[in-house]
Amino acid sequence: MAKQARELYEESDLYKIRHSTAHIMAQAVLEMFPEAKYTIGPPVENGFYYDFELPEPISQEDLPKLEKRMRQIIAGQHEFKKEVLSAESARKIFKDQPYKLELIDGLEQGGFDEYGEPLDEKPEISIYKQDAFVDLCRGPHVDNTKQINPSAVKLMSIAGAYWRGDEHNKMLTRLYGTAWRTPQELKEYLNMLEEAKKRDHRKLGKEMEIFIFDDEVGPGLPLWLPNGGVMIEELEKLAKEMEEKAGYLRVRTPNLTKEDLFIKSGHLPYYAESMYPPMDLEGVKYYVKPMNCPMHHKIFDARPRSYRELPMRLAEYGTCYRYEKSGELFGLMRVRSMQMNDAHIYTSEEQFEDEFMAVVDLYRKYFELFGIEKYVMRLSLHSKAGLGKKYADNERLWLKTEEMVRKAMDNGGVPYVEAEDEAAFYGPKVDVQIWSAIGKEFSLATNQVDFAQPERFGLKFINSAGEEEMPLVIHRAPLSTHERMIGFLIEHYAGAFPVWLSPEQVRVIPITDGQNEYAESIAGQLKAEGIRASADLNSDRMNAKIRNAQLMKVPYMLVIGNNELEAGTVSLRARDGSQQNNIKLKEFIARAKERIDQRSAEL
Ligand SMILES: [Zn+2]
Ligand SMILES: [Zn+2]
Repeated sequence: MAKQARELYEESDLYKIRHSTAHIMAQAVLEMFPEAKYTIGPPVENGFYYDFELPEPISQEDLPKLEKRMRQIIAGQHEFKKEVLSAESARKIFKDQPYKLELIDGLEQGGFDEYGEPLDEKPEISIYKQDAFVDLCRGPHVDNTKQINPSAVKLMSIAGAYWRGDEHNKMLTRLYGTAWRTPQELKEYLNMLEEAKKRDHRKLGKEMEIFIFDDEVGPGLPLWLPNGGVMIEELEKLAKEMEEKAGYLRVRTPNLTKEDLFIKSGHLPYYAESMYPPMDLEGVKYYVKPMNCPMHHKIFDARPRSYRELPMRLAEYGTCYRYEKSGELFGLMRVRSMQMNDAHIYTSEEQFEDEFMAVVDLYRKYFELFGIEKYVMRLSLHSKAGLGKKYADNERLWLKTEEMVRKAMDNGGVPYVEAEDEAAFYGPKVDVQIWSAIGKEFSLATNQVDFAQPERFGLKFINSAGEEEMPLVIHRAPLSTHERMIGFLIEHYAGAFPVWLSPEQVRVIPITDGQNEYAESIAGQLKAEGIRASADLNSDRMNAKIRNAQLMKVPYMLVIGNNELEAGTVSLRARDGSQQNNIKLKEFIARAKERIDQRSAEL
């Protein structure tokens, strides 16, 4: 299983199809705008893009025309031909293409690949030709355009993008497209997008009164409304229960800290770009924290530790602040303030595998609880060339911890892929990708091994032989941040949360004013049982009240008419449309409480 899972997207047919379709799109664009300057066009998740400097703006209406031309090119059965050449010959081919010339310079100096990504070794310069189009490219591509299904290709959207992502550079026009193996796959993807739009957490979050952003508070700083507040409380309750069972200890740390601590941890100066600027107090600089780790290390280091205290698991729902560029903020997924399901586990090398697996198991318990069926863990490794530069300079510990993680995941049957040269500075990390109910991918959380920070902080414990030993640290956040997790849950459930997580669990709906008092007394009894309930005493007609409760996706509605009032019963309408008339309130309470206590997915 592991081997199959390790086959990376970059090596897949789909990648070649998308990369080749990007070239075909560029050909069509250059035919439409012969003076266009073309830059780069890589495959991305679910498709591809290409960035152009165009002599005049392009509009959504031009896309069908481009698509039509792309289908003609595909039908021409053109070969993709690769040619390796000197920088000098490449410059001749792209003499009117300033972006390509810049890329060739980069390739020649050996610093960057053709996408402008930093490279260690000097790459060969190659071009790919199809039909009358030539691109600076190292592939891979399909052999012939006939390997692309013209009915499985679609242009999606137009956006602006700065050359090399740098806002000081010129704004280019980015065209997004998608390509699949079959028209059926394309159709499924488009359906998923359609469904995703309905589930968009920014839209539902507002309609269901879960969170808002406010201009005067600032971008990327969400305000949680009472409904969001309930969800946060429920998630924290869940985390605390699970962590308590797993032997975690809870700690609390301040949101501010002196500069020195982040210099010690190595966040400064390297991470400074992602931090809010410092504030000066009595000649000392303070930062709002982007991470909780350094303070947890200080707690571990509060007094000498013995091996008997290990593994020590320090947990905190810590609030962190990170500076994300305004252009990169996105709903709850990319924010500037976040509350993290954080913990740091201090462990000896012998205990490491068990601890690491316990963390992975915790992730899987959460996945099961939330009905997350598809997930992949990505193990990011160091590169030898990066030791002492990008990566902490301790090859022995790199190799050892990487092997320990690999072994733990193999033994645990965890689906994972490996990625060379993608690790964090301080150790190998595991990124967790999950897919929502409609197949939309989210990156949720990371699980990291750290041997660099314990060293920088001089952390140690006395081992069973009476000697000083450095612990390893596992950073983990299986429930991610409240922001990202709730954003995900809104889209995963389309707002129809399981009962335990629903901000409002029961709405009592009297048919006329005559039952208002009875409705209130029922809501009161439910609340006394710890069930979140309210009575809708508006003057609206019953149908409007039901409609309102449905919009808020309340799991249970209890409808009260004269019959119910006289019999002392309630009529239940569940969110899924099922009904039970004239049941005893006690009976309903027992059912609701069972669902809540079990954190059941059922109504
Ligand atoms: Zn290419
Ligand atoms: Zn950490």
